[in-house]
Amino acid sequence: MTELQRDNNFQWTGEVVECESGIHWGIAEQANGIVAILVNSPGGVLTGKQVRVLAEIVGEEGVIKNTRRMATLLLIPKEKVGAALESLHAAGLRVANLHGSVRNIAACPGKGFSPNSRGDTLGLANELDEAFYGTILPWDFKIGISGCPRNCTGVQCNDLGLMAEPRGKYSLWLGGSESGFNPKHGKLIRKGIIREQIIPIVKRILETYASLVEELGAELGEGAQARLYHVLEKTGFEQFEKAVEEVVLSNTIVK
Ligand code: SF4
Repeated sequence: MTELQRDNNFQWTGEVVECESGIHWGIAEQANGIVAILVNSPGGVLTGKQVRVLAEIVGEEGVIKNTRRMATLLLIPKEKVGAALESLHAAGLRVANLHGSVRNIAACPGKGFSPNSRGDTLGLANELDEAFYGTILPWDFKIGISGCPRNCTGVQCNDLGLMAEPRGKYSLWLGGSESGFNPKHGKLIRKGIIREQIIPIVKRILETYASLVEELGAELGEGAQARLYHVLEKTGFEQFEKAVEEVVLSNTIVK
């Protein structure tokens, strides 16, 4: 099984962002020459203090845009990028990635906010972010969390989706994709997962994904950027279902 490695060491050269491990960090020149910096914000949550920092970076007339993955996009001139990265770092904010790792985790407001919610979503998004931010993967890995079957985050359209059930449990879907010409719904893999097993289960899924991409190699296509659904088209779900089952039966928990 491929052991997961993490890396968030990247350099802004003044022109482009470089990262030896191959993660594509979200600092990219746009068609109009402005640079977009993607700020990591699991579940789309920022504190007032953090919003003030972002407002200071872009200035009074500057633009901050939210993305569909609930990250925050700062649009600034290239010459301001170095100083902006320093301000983000000082405020404890991190740059989100575009490719090659777990993307900014999308989550609906969930318990404590939405009256419909069956369970926590934002706390879980933070835990997953802490556990897997900067994990080196074959390509993007999108995680979405919904607090109830109204499913405002569209969990089936993520590589990995979690939906809260009553009594602190979660259902798990795998293999969805919302983008491209052939979007897919993921498959329901298991219901009734206790909260404490989610981190170990996600870890095993990421390890299985990375291992299978290594094994399949050229079978996935020359130079292919292998999302989870590409792998599943070759292997089916069995190895992933087995990995989840093993964690559940081994009673591995994270508190
Ligand atoms: S998915 Fe459910 S809990 Fe989450 S915001 Fe929508 S209605 Fe509320």
